Amino acid sequence: MLEHKPYLLMDGLKEIAKEFKGTENIFLGIKPYGFHAGNKIPFVAYPILLCEELEKNNKKAQFNFFVFLNDWEQTRFDPEKTNWKEYPFNVIPQFTTFQFSKDPAHDVDYWEHVIYSSVQEVQMRFPNVSIQCVRNSSMRDLPIMKEVVLKTIKNPNLLGNIMQNLGFPLHKSFPYTYCNPICPKCTSARTQAKVIAPDNIKLVCPDCSYQGTHNYHDLYYWLYHKVLALPRIKYYDIDLCISGLDHYKERDFDSRYALYQAYNITMKPTYILYTPALHGINGLQMGKSRQNCADIQTDKLIELIKKNPNVYELYMEGR
Ligand SMILES: [Zn+2]
Repeated sequence: MLEHKPYLLMDGLKEIAKEFKGTENIFLGIKPYGFHAGNKIPFVAYPILLCEELEKNNKKAQFNFFVFLNDWEQTRFDPEKTNWKEYPFNVIPQFTTFQFSKDPAHDVDYWEHVIYSSVQEVQMRFPNVSIQCVRNSSMRDLPIMKEVVLKTIKNPNLLGNIMQNLGFPLHKSFPYTYCNPICPKCTSARTQAKVIAPDNIKLVCPDCSYQGTHNYHDLYYWLYHKVLALPRIKYYDIDLCISGLDHYKERDFDSRYALYQAYNITMKPTYILYTPALHGINGLQMGKSRQNCADIQTDKLIELIKKNPNVYELYMEGR
């Protein structure tokens, strides 16, 4: 039996491959904006390595991979209202979400195509696996999404208290809301909202002064990614989440289980496998904001991982 603990790197992958049947549901999550070699580790390389390891154990890889596209994520946090280094969980969007952004660089259709095409490489090598992209916005009307959104608007302290207990202080005069309805007039994600029983939401928009009351199902939302994991895992009956190591450092494993309890959602055992971080040619962890994104052939990436199976930080050649 697998234990209730985080599974790390290739040793973790091997433990999971021993226990899994090969038919499990696997969670991969990303914002629909960019896809680089660093993303390819959890999205392509580790899935391939998991299938390979499973088949070494004489089982057939028939996993269902769910690629969750976070189109409810903010395009940017407000730098004036956040102090990322000292208070990483005091967050507020600066503008809107990817779903409503008019910037051509934020085209969700385009990024969905790029990300899906890349993950398809897993299916090319293991044809019995399935891959499905799911956008948050398509989950809005599910009862579990509605429950989580309304609870988060009503009580941001459900997450706030958990993060404080894990040692991340919150600044009382900075906002921390974790979920806002999108303004129906100007698409701002910075609205102030109140839930009016049973499922109406009264909102005020500081950007365009709009005020109104709407039913839950007539609005869209900004929802912070830690909370967003819950409805996805529950509804899609997820067995394993494959996630980057930066989430592990944010105590993602501990906060996830505390959130299940705080939101009173019963879950079957869900395992989390953490994958190494990839550093770009300037030595920093690869990321769009660090301007060091690169691509790498999947076989080269797999070779790099196999050479350093339990190393937390991998480096692209040529550093
Ligand atoms: Zn507005």
